[in-house]
Amino acid sequence: MADAFDVVVVGGGPVGACVAALLAGASPRQAAPLAVAILEPHRPAFPAVDAPIDLRVAAFSRASERILDAAGAWQGITAARVSPYERMCIWHESSAAGTRGALRFDAAEAGEPNLGYIIETRLVQAALLDAAVAAGVRIYPSEFLSLRTSAQCVRIATADAALSARLVIGADGARSPLRAAAGLAATVSDYGQIAIVATVATERPHEQTAWQRFLRTGTLAFLPLSDGTSSIVWSADEKLARPLLGATAEEFARALDRACDGVLGATRLASERLSFPLHGLAAERYVTERCALVGDAAHVVHPLAGQGVNLGLLDAATLAELILGACAEGEDPGALRVLRRYERWRKSETEVMRIAIDAFDRLLAHGTGPLAQIAQRGLGWVNHSSELKRFFMARALGLSGELPLAARAAQSDRSSQHR
Ligand SMILES: Cc1cc2nc3c(=O)[nH]c(=O)nc-3n(C[C@H](O)[C@H](O)[C@H](O)COP(=O)(O)OP(=O)(O)OC[C@H]3O[C@@H](n4cnc5c(N)ncnc54)[C@H](O)[C@@H]3O)c2cc1C
Repeated sequence: MADAFDVVVVGGGPVGACVAALLAGASPRQAAPLAVAILEPHRPAFPAVDAPIDLRVAAFSRASERILDAAGAWQGITAARVSPYERMCIWHESSAAGTRGALRFDAAEAGEPNLGYIIETRLVQAALLDAAVAAGVRIYPSEFLSLRTSAQCVRIATADAALSARLVIGADGARSPLRAAAGLAATVSDYGQIAIVATVATERPHEQTAWQRFLRTGTLAFLPLSDGTSSIVWSADEKLARPLLGATAEEFARALDRACDGVLGATRLASERLSFPLHGLAAERYVTERCALVGDAAHVVHPLAGQGVNLGLLDAATLAELILGACAEGEDPGALRVLRRYERWRKSETEVMRIAIDAFDRLLAHGTGPLAQIAQRGLGWVNHSSELKRFFMARALGLSGELPLAARAAQSDRSSQHR
């Protein structure tokens, strides 16, 4: 006999854990909470306060902060550790960071306490899974194996359990076995780049600033961490990345110093190097009968703009809002007409972001033609237009486009005390 739920979420990464916590926690203006399960074979432990900072970190936007708060996870995250960043400096290799050619954002200009937070992805995932469990979600430490959809429900099998639900949500990452089982096609593109991720110590303090340099061979970002070190994400063309991964720590640091133009003084590698071959992915449909995709299962973007998990959390909040709203109206949460509302809302938003990010990669990082040169010089020009600056800042804060309720300002009242 199958364990019955309203919703089964396949994958308890940050996005899956978030949608589960939101659905089970149901805000007061919406419907009664739903019976929710997550399938996640690799649940991370909440990191100890004195544990070294994990190598996988991400930049979380203001919108994500609000969603994490609505999901009940923000307090646990801030009680551990976060690194707010107050400024961004973005420049092209044809200019220098300290010149008028560099684009600078300052939270103070926008009347904000910061522009976002650098947080370990594992910490966010662990806090969200804890919040989901506190809201009544049941976690199965099992892998999804197969799916059978009927008019009334969807049946899900793992090696050791059988579950049934009115809706299954695929949050199982870029390779998404659920997406394949549901017959949802996706287009995958190869960027021909590898992202090298590591922690580095720098001669000069990072000044709570996220530094990003566009190079003709890729993009290099320094993200400020709470212990004074920086996390680098160096998305380099494969032919440059492979020797960098094989270089000694000293050779790597010298190459890094050249690539960042010594913006923070001499660097020293303070960790191993992780590598991620970069692919883009766009699911052709996000939904089918009784099935919806969220996060990397639906779309994968280049990490240069630090948007992947932020887009996924917006998917989670949007889908939870629409599902709870539909349930409050007595609608079937797995019905295609309900799920299509989610697809219409989020697919257009993520497509716009994906096209913009790919244009940044093509023009700012790799471009050599006249259009690319205009874009590269144009970085500094943005400083002179308050309207353009406001536009880009709103994008950086994740506060542009059509936002779900959980990402809007009123939700952040409780979280402001943690800033
Ligand atoms: C180098 C790099 C830097 C990045 N930096 C940023 C950044 O600064 N900001 C940002 O917003 N984004 C960033 N991203 C993107 C971000 O990491 C992803 O978008 C995010 O992790 C996606 O979350 P997710 O929950 O959708 O998927 P995942 O994190 O991939 O989680 C999927 C989950 O599904 C589970 N799963 C898989 N298969 C099964 C199965 N068969 N059954 C059950 N469970 C299964 C997995 O165990 C996993 O826990 C970066 C990405 C890279 C590569």
